[in-house]
Amino acid sequence: MIDLRIEQADWLLTVDHQRRIIRDAAVDIEAGRIAAVGKTAEIRARGPAQKTIDARGMVVTPGLIDSHIHTTFQMSRGLADEVGSRKFLFERMYPYEGALDEDDARVSIELCVLELLRNGVTTFIDAGNYQPQITAEVVGRAGMRCIVARSSFDVTQSAMGALPAAFIETTEQSLTRAEAVVKELHRVFDGRVHAWFQFRGLNNSTDRLIVGLKQLADRYGVGVQTHACFARSTMESSQAQHGATEIERMAKLGVLGPNLLLIHAGWATERELELIRDHNVKVVAAASSSLHNAYGNIRMGHLPELIEQGVAVGLGSDHASSGIVDLPQEMFLAACAYKEVRENPEVMPPERVIEMATINGARCALRDGEVGSIEAGKRADLTIFDTRRPEWQPLYNPVANLVYSATGKSVDTVIVDGHILMRGGRVLTLDESEIIEAAARRAPAILAKTRLEKLIAPKWPVS
Ligand SMILES: [Zn+2]
Repeated sequence: MIDLRIEQADWLLTVDHQRRIIRDAAVDIEAGRIAAVGKTAEIRARGPAQKTIDARGMVVTPGLIDSHIHTTFQMSRGLADEVGSRKFLFERMYPYEGALDEDDARVSIELCVLELLRNGVTTFIDAGNYQPQITAEVVGRAGMRCIVARSSFDVTQSAMGALPAAFIETTEQSLTRAEAVVKELHRVFDGRVHAWFQFRGLNNSTDRLIVGLKQLADRYGVGVQTHACFARSTMESSQAQHGATEIERMAKLGVLGPNLLLIHAGWATERELELIRDHNVKVVAAASSSLHNAYGNIRMGHLPELIEQGVAVGLGSDHASSGIVDLPQEMFLAACAYKEVRENPEVMPPERVIEMATINGARCALRDGEVGSIEAGKRADLTIFDTRRPEWQPLYNPVANLVYSATGKSVDTVIVDGHILMRGGRVLTLDESEIIEAAARRAPAILAKTRLEKLIAPKWPVS
């Protein structure tokens, strides 16, 4: 039985192997999967559908995949502006994160999931936090797909700085608690939620923790992720503490492999880029946080070359503390930042950037057999943009408009597993006004706990 048919779409970007773009397109969905894709007339010939969506004036894409987002950082918007990597982490974000209680975390996660969904994201990889159960529960309720992980650190004092007391645990505690999360949360909510391992960064992790987490990831058949090579400070700290750059250290530990996801990697050296390629390591670019915090990933980075060489490079919005959590806007930054620093308008064409936010994100999530393109047999995850808005006109090429002029604000409909989560710009699975009101109500107490009020107050007189 055809449960749902999307028909008469002006444009449909399949992102399939041939990268077909279909005009006057339709998609049939049966039992949560894509049953057929093609021209409206040929799809209608398959017989009647239970329900139809009229997609005239719309562009249909695979559900967008945000490959790196800190859901618990959503309440930190405005707390970490105009600071570099060291200050950002040790004076702003760790004190913020250390102050969050469970209720604060829930408000943050709900707000983040709402913003992701509104902006067309169907799958995301959470960067790892201390409340993966809440992340899983909210995503389960929202109807989306995600990967959760428990955050792991076992070095509390590094060359980068000292961690708050709330994060201090032994290597054994880190390993045991991370394993418990994978046991509890991997493949829950009809398989929509997966659980992975994570170490937050190289400089706050012992060799034993890194090797232990990779062994667990291999044993459970899941991924392991970490921030790596994202600023001059992380590279210099690694050299000072371990006598090797970050990816070289991981190579020595034998943990490079196709289930390893590296976040940023802009400061990777020539040798480290080779290691990424040779071991089929996955990478996520997050242009907005690098631009906002002056990490240098764009100026130093070689992601365009990695992409051309076939490395799976996804796209992540990273966190609200660098402003935007809007993947279409993130696409614009990823496409344009390299053009500017290299004085080369041809680098990072929009086709590559849409691949980052769809099929390559699916490869990063180790779920490309399941999502990332609109093809018969895959799960029915779709994002539908309303082009009857000024920023979409004139519409000569939807690939160009999606990357260069659209934002998440033009998302009209979001579908996951054939279920409609958002329609006509309205989220159906979460109570939007309640989440926004709860965040606004809770913000003053969170700010007070971080003791950052004076530092972040408006610089202009407030009366
Ligand atoms: Zn991050």
